[in-house]
Amino acid sequence: MKYKDEFSDPALASSLVCRIKETVPDREVSFMEVCGTHTMAIHRYGIKSLLPENIRLLSGPGCPVCVTPVSYMDAAIQYSRDPCFMIATFGDLFRVPGSDSSLAMEKALGGDIKIVYSPLGALDLARRNPEKHVIFLGIGFETTLPAIASAIVYAKEEDMDNFSVLFGGKTVPNVLRVLAGSPDLKLAGLILPGHVSAIIGVEPYRFLASEFSIPCAITGFEPLDILFSIARLLDMVNKGRPEVLNLYPRTVKDDGNTRACDLIQRVFCPVDSDWRGIGRIPESGLAIREEFARYDAARRFPIEVPPGKVHPGCRCGEVLKGVITPLECPLFGKACHPESPIGACMVSSEGTCAAYYKYGT
Ligand code: SF4
Repeated sequence: MKYKDEFSDPALASSLVCRIKETVPDREVSFMEVCGTHTMAIHRYGIKSLLPENIRLLSGPGCPVCVTPVSYMDAAIQYSRDPCFMIATFGDLFRVPGSDSSLAMEKALGGDIKIVYSPLGALDLARRNPEKHVIFLGIGFETTLPAIASAIVYAKEEDMDNFSVLFGGKTVPNVLRVLAGSPDLKLAGLILPGHVSAIIGVEPYRFLASEFSIPCAITGFEPLDILFSIARLLDMVNKGRPEVLNLYPRTVKDDGNTRACDLIQRVFCPVDSDWRGIGRIPESGLAIREEFARYDAARRFPIEVPPGKVHPGCRCGEVLKGVITPLECPLFGKACHPESPIGACMVSSEGTCAAYYKYGT
């Protein structure tokens, strides 16, 4: 496979590792990979084991399932208990614990819950089940939002009355603002998400270099992509010249995907949003615009959802902020493992705890 093979070349990887070792400063340097897919790739390819000890790779809040608050899951669970509704969800949300149940448990108790692979799959369920109202659990970052927006637009064009979205979409730049300003982290650089950047481009990240002096690299997901981004981040650290580099031009255009951005703008508007373990961040989420309110499950079928309860021992919040690694959570690999997850970070295929469990350190 063209890119897979080219970007996994062992000789090039060795030369990049040498370059990193030659240029690493004589102090600890912390880089954060924001995206859950990067976290998985870093563990799958053993990248940490290749790096000098004083380079720390911290995992950030870039797994959409992990940052979805418990109250969202509790709302989804409440809807699933009403026989009028069929819940359509991505598989990753199925086993995420709510306050006292999960969608998997509700399905075992008879809830009508279906796993779909796209928002359009949920729309199709609604077409094929006119006797039910299908609620799609629409979470995700900029990567997923255009597909959710498309489903809402199609539903409106078809004048569908039995489809809506429990929407929990989030946007990445403003959570990076919180992390960039965190005195706990002292980030020397950011490995920025390739998929999100394919939609939003380079511009929305510029403030990280100009306001916070943090070097940034938009990065792909193969071993050479990641090693090269670390080498370039070190160059910028050493020269004291922070920039936002697009190192993934085979996928990311500097101005992103303007059609996808226009679609997001048309259907959603910015709102403050709650992030699991991080709290409320101004303008870091989106809501469905008034024009499409009929397809907003929360407005069409309002319910009371008490504040969510998290297991008292779960440290997902600190894991998501990069303050601790999963190994520092006392429940890791004991009470909490993929077959019996206590926090969302152990459930999701992009979760940091799941990556540590699957691949070790
Ligand atoms: S190991 Fe489990 S309990 Fe601990 S932080 Fe991760 S998900 Fe939460």
